[in-house]
Amino acid sequence: MGYKSDIEIAREANKKPIMEIGAKLGMEPNDLLPYGHDKAKVSQEFINSVQGKEDGKLILVTAINPTPAGEGKTTTTVGLGDGLNAIGKNAMICIREASLGPNFGMKGGAAGGGYAQVVPMEEMNLHFTGDFHAITSAHSLLSAMIDNHIYWGNEQEIDTRRVAWRRVVDMNDRALRQITASLGGVSNGFPRETGFDITVASEVMAILCLATDLADLEKRLGDIIVAYRRDKTPVYCRDIKASGAMTVLLKDAMQPNLVQTLENNPAFVHGGPFANIAHGCNSVIATKTALKVADYVVTEAGFGADLGAEKFMNIKCRKAGLAPDCVVLVATVRAMKMNGGVAKADLGEENVAAVQDGCANLGRHIGNVKSFGVPVVVAINHFVTDTDAEVAAVKEYVEGQGSEAILCQHWAHGSEGTKELATRVAEIADSGVSQFAPLYRDDMPLFEKIETIAKRIYRADEVLADAKIRNQLREWEEAGYGNLPVCMAKTQYSFSTDPNLRGAPVGHSVPVREVRLSAGAGFIVVVCGEIMTMPGLPRKPAAETICLNADGEIEGLF
Ligand code: ADP
Ligand code: MG
Repeated sequence: MGYKSDIEIAREANKKPIMEIGAKLGMEPNDLLPYGHDKAKVSQEFINSVQGKEDGKLILVTAINPTPAGEGKTTTTVGLGDGLNAIGKNAMICIREASLGPNFGMKGGAAGGGYAQVVPMEEMNLHFTGDFHAITSAHSLLSAMIDNHIYWGNEQEIDTRRVAWRRVVDMNDRALRQITASLGGVSNGFPRETGFDITVASEVMAILCLATDLADLEKRLGDIIVAYRRDKTPVYCRDIKASGAMTVLLKDAMQPNLVQTLENNPAFVHGGPFANIAHGCNSVIATKTALKVADYVVTEAGFGADLGAEKFMNIKCRKAGLAPDCVVLVATVRAMKMNGGVAKADLGEENVAAVQDGCANLGRHIGNVKSFGVPVVVAINHFVTDTDAEVAAVKEYVEGQGSEAILCQHWAHGSEGTKELATRVAEIADSGVSQFAPLYRDDMPLFEKIETIAKRIYRADEVLADAKIRNQLREWEEAGYGNLPVCMAKTQYSFSTDPNLRGAPVGHSVPVREVRLSAGAGFIVVVCGEIMTMPGLPRKPAAETICLNADGEIEGLF
């Protein structure tokens, strides 16, 4: 069809030196720590120096329940940031860093797409500024120090069957999910079962993304529960004396990374926690710094609004004292059709009736976002295969809900394709109509918090949990963790816990399989259904077609 691939477009970018991009935000050369010519970290001195400034407006980009390809939240975040700049606003974007696993697997990169991308796309999707390697190292240091502690006499009396801290690597490697460690004799320690998670699932990642500064980072690392004793009392990271050295390893990773969009507008790309067992958005330090240097900050939360926006509001905003001024809900005709029951292979054919059916999913997300007191605009992320009749059906439905939907063509046309959306979003954000409040109070009992989300966001009838889980929650309340928010881990494809139940299901129950305490990050993970913390590679991983061409350029990243 003659469309350029994401990487071809990214390669043709007319990048400006990163110092020029920083200057747009009032940063002097000394405020930036350059990593090459097109990436830089923002110095802590600069961050401290802007604390007295007033905050800009915060705009969250979220989406309907996605189809397996992802529906363009990052692409729309970048497109809207460029659109705001194109209509004369001082705007920037904040997004997550990419994990190597999905890059070499199936999902592809995290820099946006088409003419709405962040560059350097290749580096952002590979080693970037080394933040994820630093997180892997900090996590691994703690893993090594725990086994070393046991080896040298186990003064803390760790029950080696109850070591909660696993190992991590930033790769999709199913072979490592469950392993036996310390085999090979006395000098190698005490054999025990353990396993690996992908780096983005590490609690260190969640902590880095929620910590306000290095002192807060070190305290939270110290609070991690690494194991339990035979009497079930917790052993903390600080008991193993690892948090100081871990903080040293994470010192540079804590500083936000500045890059640019294809249209030379500033972007912070920083942190990237999983959106299921963690909260799924970029670092608090990046978002807060952005609000000090830009009038409008556009940011993204992972998965659909039932998971991503809910956690953004109930976890990130609550903990960091942030309040969104406007939410942009990304919808695609393709996802409407899939929610309306069309199979993936048939998405290319016009089907207005299926679009109409699928809109029930969109409608529920609109209502949910409004229930946080935040105004919402629907962005229809246009695909070239969408027909006018299908787009009209979405608009009509959204108007019927008392909201508005705006067609966006940023993937094909960059900021030209989002000016209308940008104008409307700026108007809404400036109007001050947002009355943001989290969905539940800190002091609500933990099980009621789960029920509140299940009933008000998923519209489930009930939460099912056996006595063991309810007792565990009560024990944590008695131990002083009752004021924590809950972090729901469920399928991203449905409001329910069944990935095949699309649209707007009713009458379902939410079974809780397991609860986990992330004491350092500061939330209780509620596992509903099969949740993978170490993905595998597909039959034909993207890695098979990634290579360097004769000019030394990277091929095959997308
Ligand atoms: P999400 O952030 O929701 O996971 P992304 O923005 O990363 O989704 O987009 C996922 C993929 O879809 C990217 O490869 C991107 O190029 C592609 N994509 C996004 N929007 C469009 C569009 N309008 N037309 C064609 N491809 C698109
Ligand atoms: Mg994304």
